[in-house]
Amino acid sequence: MALDTDTLNQLIETVRRFVRERLIPLEQEVDANDKIPDEVIEEMKALGLFGLSIPENYGGLGLAMSDEVLIGQELGYTAPAFRSAFGTNVGIGSQGILIDGTEAQKQAYLPKLASGEIVGSFALTEPDVGSDAASVKMTAKLDGDTYVLNGTKRFITNAARAGVFTVMARTGTVEDKAKGVTAFLVEAGSTGLELGAPEKKMGQKGAHVCDVIFNDVAVHKDQIIGGIPGQGFKTAMKVLDRGRLHMSSIAMGMANRLVDEQVSYAIERKQFGSKIGDFQLIQAMIADSRTEYLAGKSMVEATAARYDAGDKVSTDASSCKLFCTEAVGRIADRAVQIHGGAGYISDYAVERFYRDVRLLRLYEGTSQIQQIVIAKNLIKDAEAKR
Ligand SMILES: Cc1cc2nc3c(=O)[nH]c(=O)nc-3n(C[C@H](O)[C@H](O)[C@H](O)COP(=O)(O)OP(=O)(O)OC[C@H]3O[C@@H](n4cnc5c(N)ncnc54)[C@H](O)[C@@H]3O)c2cc1C
Repeated sequence: MALDTDTLNQLIETVRRFVRERLIPLEQEVDANDKIPDEVIEEMKALGLFGLSIPENYGGLGLAMSDEVLIGQELGYTAPAFRSAFGTNVGIGSQGILIDGTEAQKQAYLPKLASGEIVGSFALTEPDVGSDAASVKMTAKLDGDTYVLNGTKRFITNAARAGVFTVMARTGTVEDKAKGVTAFLVEAGSTGLELGAPEKKMGQKGAHVCDVIFNDVAVHKDQIIGGIPGQGFKTAMKVLDRGRLHMSSIAMGMANRLVDEQVSYAIERKQFGSKIGDFQLIQAMIADSRTEYLAGKSMVEATAARYDAGDKVSTDASSCKLFCTEAVGRIADRAVQIHGGAGYISDYAVERFYRDVRLLRLYEGTSQIQQIVIAKNLIKDAEAKR
């Protein structure tokens, strides 16, 4: 359910102030230390950020998608590592439970995820399984009332802080492809569950990923999301549909910040006796950036409204993710260009943003996978009409 306008505006204002007054001043420190201060995480909990998308009856703020993309744009205005601290609770780490979980599973996990008492992680990717997510190799073999999980999950965001993992494992045969994949809820600390070392990343310092290794991890069959084996791939795709809109809104928040950084540097910096903002070649870069920002913002807000209205938006969510994440890559590149040599120096926010935005085109489905989804859906729909 959408928030009423006053409450939504208040929330937007609160998040905007938190981002600009509290988080932006910490950006460089977080990048240098690769750590978000513990007290900031506590403040995020107090603001309700861990529970943005979780319904109020489970302790969250219960934002509709169209509200969430407005808050996402505010959050995107600072380093995305901050959002990542609670991002899996808002998206991939909670939505499987919310969309397809049993009532008992919702009661058991959603209030704790909403408050930030626990962190939820989503474990789909494996060393040999990335874009071809239906080929999950991790095995889950039934033994009495429990499944025994074996395999490795790779690049799992927030794994080291997670209390519960949504894990995609194969209960069927390899030939079953997507139909053989089941989503399990696995608690941290389960016997046989180990974490790999944190990966060293290009950007988004302060957000962490690592391997999650399963050696004969016993999981009761009641921990299957929704209780029915073989539904895991469908659950994962539903989670990603919503996640793609969220990610697009983050991308457009970053785009907004980068346009502001472009403009303020263009006003400050002087060459050839005038501010560089007077040069039409600089103006062109600013104009293209602002235009792409506005286009992306408009498409994500329109698609989110259709999601809330119950329309099927898989194709358009992919279009949003494709356009917004590619656009912010171009905008970050122009921001560096406008800054000249300074844009390559880490004292300037644009250097960090340039590295940070690169990830958006890779995770939750690469740009190529979005293109495939869009084209395949259109072709399938057209063939069905013949
Ligand atoms: C920082 C970070 C955080 C992450 N967090 C998580 C997480 O929390 N949980 C999780 O499960 N995963 C996570 N991932 C994994 C991420 O979702 C995958 O890396 C991503 O889906 C791509 O898979 P891959 O890396 O195996 O690339 P591959 O699938 O090997 O792709 C390599 C290249 O081939 C292209 N390609 C692949 N198939 C096709 C095709 N059919 N046609 C054309 N081109 C194709 C791709 O677009 C890409 O350019 C994270 C990754 C990173 C880097």
